[in-house]
Amino acid sequence: MLKPIFAATALSSFILMAGCSSALTSEHEKEQKEEQPSSQETEKEAETDKNNDSKESAQRQVEVDEAATPAQAGLQTLAHPESIPVLVNKQYSLPEDYKPADLIYPNVDFIFEDKIEKRMMREEAGKALELMFQAAEKDNMHFAGVSAYRSHQTQITVFNNYVAKDGEEKAKTYSAMPGTSEHETGLAIDVTTHDGACAAQDCFGDTNEAAWLAEHAHEYGFIIRYPEGKENITGYKYEPWHIRYVGVDTATEIFEAKITLEEYYNAVPVEAVSE
Ligand SMILES: [Zn+2]
Repeated sequence: MLKPIFAATALSSFILMAGCSSALTSEHEKEQKEEQPSSQETEKEAETDKNNDSKESAQRQVEVDEAATPAQAGLQTLAHPESIPVLVNKQYSLPEDYKPADLIYPNVDFIFEDKIEKRMMREEAGKALELMFQAAEKDNMHFAGVSAYRSHQTQITVFNNYVAKDGEEKAKTYSAMPGTSEHETGLAIDVTTHDGACAAQDCFGDTNEAAWLAEHAHEYGFIIRYPEGKENITGYKYEPWHIRYVGVDTATEIFEAKITLEEYYNAVPVEAVSE
């Protein structure tokens, strides 16, 4: 088992104290970087422990399609976008023409009524979501979906709107560039409380539903994809509402080791390690 990550806990409390900003401001980013040397050391220790625990993890690789990789620096195109535990992030992009083949409408409530694109998920993920929401109801936790699948074209529109509003640099801190959004996989969904009050907002993190989700999501194959204190690894601010289906075994391993999908693949971005 891993030792408690003291530095990461210190960083978490710092972020909590920094309050409920809707996006990481450049000021927060700067302060975070100052905190990072200690947290980095702990990350490395944790990584070493993990590797000792499981030699398999060191062999896990993200397979890249060299032929489809664009000239754009630092972005590689995934060879197996249909893989359930696929790593999609600011370094690994879905192929431009990728569309999941098995999208369904999960039978769960959303905060809207329309039967539209963002209600869809890949079949395995959607079925798991149904089971999870049913189990939550038994614990008196009431969830609703906010946004699940997003086509490549929709992500282009969404991202361009944010760029027009906040500029590209800031937009990149809270929205994914087209091809790099997990929502394009059909395996991710933003969830909230059934009343929709804190949809995609930091205040969701303070609800009983968020606490339940953090504790139980892995039992249904989901992970909290952008955890608190791992912003330098995932490249995203803490999002208690964004869950990603990776399958029960992978999710449980990630939950127990308190790691991210990047760490699971030993694919922590170079910038995060050297900062
Ligand atoms: Zn999301």
